[in-house]
Amino acid sequence: MGLELLTQVLGLSDCVVKDILIREKEIILKIERTGYPYCPRCGQHYLEAPKDRRKQRVEDLSICGKRCFLEIVKRRIECSCGFKGTEGIEWLERYERVTVRYQNWIYAFCKRMTGIDVAILFGISKHMVYRLDKEGIQRELALQKPIRPKRIGVDEISRKKGHRHATIISAPDERKIET
Ligand SMILES: [Zn+2]
Repeated sequence: MGLELLTQVLGLSDCVVKDILIREKEIILKIERTGYPYCPRCGQHYLEAPKDRRKQRVEDLSICGKRCFLEIVKRRIECSCGFKGTEGIEWLERYERVTVRYQNWIYAFCKRMTGIDVAILFGISKHMVYRLDKEGIQRELALQKPIRPKRIGVDEISRKKGHRHATIISAPDERKIET
Protein backbone atom coordinates (compact mmCIF):
# COMPACT_ATOMS: atom_id res chain seq x y z
CA MET A 1 0.00 0.00 0.00
CA GLY A 2 1.38 3.40 -0.91
CA LEU A 3 1.92 6.00 1.77
CA GLU A 4 -0.67 8.26 0.16
CA LEU A 5 -3.31 5.57 0.48
CA LEU A 6 -2.19 4.86 4.03
CA THR A 7 -2.63 8.56 4.87
CA GLN A 8 -6.20 8.29 3.58
CA VAL A 9 -6.88 5.14 5.60
CA LEU A 10 -5.50 6.79 8.74
CA GLY A 11 -7.92 9.68 8.19
CA LEU A 12 -6.42 12.13 10.68
CA SER A 13 -6.54 15.81 9.78
CA ASP A 14 -3.46 17.76 8.74
CA CYS A 15 -0.99 14.92 8.61
CA VAL A 16 0.64 12.63 6.10
CA VAL A 17 2.25 9.25 6.62
CA LYS A 18 5.94 9.43 5.78
CA ASP A 19 7.08 5.97 6.72
CA ILE A 20 5.78 2.70 8.16
CA LEU A 21 7.59 0.25 10.35
CA ILE A 22 6.00 -3.16 10.81
CA ARG A 23 7.12 -5.19 13.80
CA GLU A 24 5.88 -8.51 15.11
CA LYS A 25 3.29 -7.02 17.44
CA GLU A 26 3.15 -3.38 16.49
CA ILE A 27 3.00 -0.98 13.61
CA ILE A 28 4.67 2.40 13.80
CA LEU A 29 3.56 5.13 11.45
CA LYS A 30 5.83 8.10 11.12
CA ILE A 31 3.69 11.07 10.34
CA GLU A 32 4.36 14.64 9.44
CA ARG A 33 2.05 17.56 10.20
CA THR A 34 0.98 19.70 7.29
CA GLY A 35 -0.23 23.29 7.22
CA TYR A 36 0.43 25.98 9.78
CA PRO A 37 0.27 25.09 13.47
CA TYR A 38 -2.61 26.60 15.44
CA CYS A 39 -2.79 27.93 18.95
CA PRO A 40 -4.75 25.61 21.30
CA ARG A 41 -5.89 28.60 23.37
CA CYS A 42 -7.18 31.13 20.84
CA GLY A 43 -7.34 28.95 17.72
CA GLN A 44 -5.40 31.32 15.50
CA HIS A 45 -3.01 29.86 12.96
CA TYR A 46 0.59 30.59 13.57
CA LEU A 47 2.36 31.79 10.48
CA GLU A 48 5.91 32.17 11.69
CA ALA A 49 8.37 29.32 11.84
CA PRO A 50 7.79 27.23 14.98
CA LYS A 51 10.24 27.77 17.81
CA ASP A 52 11.01 24.17 18.41
CA ARG A 53 9.91 20.63 17.56
CA ARG A 54 9.47 17.65 19.78
CA LYS A 55 9.05 14.06 18.73
CA GLN A 56 6.39 12.05 20.50
CA ARG A 57 4.89 8.61 20.15
CA VAL A 58 1.16 8.20 20.69
CA GLU A 59 -1.00 5.12 20.47
CA ASP A 60 -3.83 4.92 17.96
CA LEU A 61 -6.42 2.27 17.08
CA SER A 62 -4.88 -1.13 16.29
CA ILE A 63 -4.36 -2.29 12.72
CA CYS A 64 -5.17 -5.93 11.95
CA GLY A 65 -4.52 -7.00 15.52
CA LYS A 66 -1.23 -5.15 15.87
CA ARG A 67 -0.96 -2.19 18.21
CA CYS A 68 -0.48 1.00 16.26
CA PHE A 69 1.74 3.89 17.27
CA LEU A 70 2.04 7.24 15.58
CA GLU A 71 5.34 9.03 15.69
CA ILE A 72 4.57 12.71 15.44
CA VAL A 73 6.59 15.87 15.67
CA LYS A 74 4.83 18.48 17.76
CA ARG A 75 5.70 22.07 17.04
CA ARG A 76 6.23 24.62 19.77
CA ILE A 77 4.74 28.04 19.29
CA GLU A 78 4.58 31.39 21.00
CA CYS A 79 1.26 32.96 20.13
CA SER A 80 0.32 36.63 20.25
CA CYS A 81 -2.41 35.78 22.79
CA GLY A 82 0.33 34.94 25.24
CA PHE A 83 0.22 31.18 24.85
CA LYS A 84 3.57 29.40 24.87
CA GLY A 85 3.68 25.67 24.30
CA THR A 86 2.96 22.94 21.80
CA GLU A 87 0.52 23.47 18.94
CA GLY A 88 -3.05 22.28 19.08
CA ILE A 89 -3.84 18.98 17.36
CA GLU A 90 -7.49 18.20 16.67
CA TRP A 91 -7.20 14.47 17.26
CA LEU A 92 -4.82 14.57 20.21
CA GLU A 93 -5.47 16.22 23.56
CA ARG A 94 -2.69 18.09 25.29
CA TYR A 95 -0.43 15.91 27.48
CA GLU A 96 -2.18 12.80 26.18
CA ARG A 97 -0.23 9.77 24.97
CA VAL A 98 -3.11 8.31 23.00
CA THR A 99 -5.31 9.74 20.24
CA VAL A 100 -8.83 10.98 20.98
CA ARG A 101 -10.41 8.11 19.06
CA TYR A 102 -8.29 5.63 21.04
CA GLN A 103 -9.51 7.26 24.29
CA ASN A 104 -13.11 6.86 23.13
CA TRP A 105 -12.50 3.27 22.04
CA ILE A 106 -11.09 2.27 25.45
CA TYR A 107 -13.93 4.09 27.18
CA ALA A 108 -16.48 2.17 25.13
CA PHE A 109 -14.95 -1.09 26.38
CA CYS A 110 -14.78 0.19 29.98
CA LYS A 111 -18.55 0.58 29.90
CA ARG A 112 -18.97 -3.09 29.07
CA MET A 113 -16.26 -4.94 30.98
CA THR A 114 -14.00 -4.56 33.99
CA GLY A 115 -10.94 -2.32 33.85
CA ILE A 116 -8.66 -5.32 34.38
CA ASP A 117 -10.19 -7.09 31.37
CA VAL A 118 -9.75 -3.99 29.21
CA ALA A 119 -6.10 -3.74 30.30
CA ILE A 120 -5.46 -7.38 29.38
CA LEU A 121 -7.30 -7.11 26.07
CA PHE A 122 -5.37 -4.03 24.92
CA GLY A 123 -2.07 -4.77 26.62
CA ILE A 124 -2.04 -1.48 28.51
CA SER A 125 -1.68 -0.84 32.23
CA LYS A 126 -4.74 -0.86 34.47
CA HIS A 127 -3.82 2.63 35.65
CA MET A 128 -4.02 3.85 32.08
CA VAL A 129 -7.42 2.16 31.69
CA TYR A 130 -8.76 3.74 34.89
CA ARG A 131 -7.53 7.15 33.82
CA LEU A 132 -9.10 6.88 30.35
CA ASP A 133 -12.32 5.59 31.91
CA LYS A 134 -12.45 8.50 34.35
CA GLU A 135 -11.79 11.02 31.58
CA GLY A 136 -14.50 9.41 29.46
CA ILE A 137 -17.01 9.70 32.31
CA GLN A 138 -16.07 13.36 32.84
CA ARG A 139 -16.51 14.09 29.12
CA GLU A 140 -19.90 12.41 29.13
CA LEU A 141 -21.02 14.24 32.28
CA ALA A 142 -19.95 17.55 30.79
CA LEU A 143 -22.35 16.96 27.91
CA GLN A 144 -25.29 16.29 30.19
CA LYS A 145 -27.77 19.02 30.94
CA PRO A 146 -28.18 19.91 34.61
CA ILE A 147 -31.39 18.60 36.16
CA ARG A 148 -33.66 19.89 38.93
CA PRO A 149 -35.12 16.75 40.43
CA LYS A 150 -38.26 16.92 42.59
CA ARG A 151 -37.35 13.71 44.40
CA ILE A 152 -33.97 12.24 45.21
CA GLY A 153 -32.90 8.95 46.75
CA VAL A 154 -29.84 8.43 48.94
CA ASP A 155 -28.29 5.03 49.46
CA GLU A 156 -25.03 3.67 50.75
CA ILE A 157 -23.18 0.68 49.39
CA SER A 158 -20.04 -1.01 50.64
CA ARG A 159 -17.07 -1.53 48.38
CA LYS A 160 -13.92 -3.59 48.77
CA LYS A 161 -15.58 -6.07 51.16
CA GLY A 162 -16.95 -3.42 53.50
CA HIS A 163 -13.72 -1.46 53.87
CA ARG A 164 -14.98 1.47 51.86
CA HIS A 165 -18.41 2.94 51.47
CA ALA A 166 -19.89 4.91 48.65
CA THR A 167 -22.97 7.08 48.75
CA ILE A 168 -25.32 6.90 45.80
CA ILE A 169 -27.58 9.83 45.12
CA SER A 170 -30.25 9.19 42.57
CA ALA A 171 -32.99 11.12 40.84
CA PRO A 172 -35.46 8.33 40.09
CA ASP A 173 -37.79 10.40 37.90
CA GLU A 174 -34.93 11.51 35.66
CA ARG A 175 -33.23 8.08 35.87
CA LYS A 176 -29.87 9.57 36.90
CA ILE A 177 -27.45 8.37 39.53
CA GLU A 178 -24.31 9.73 41.05
CA THR A 179 -21.88 8.04 43.44
ZN1 LIG B 1 -3.19 32.10 20.79
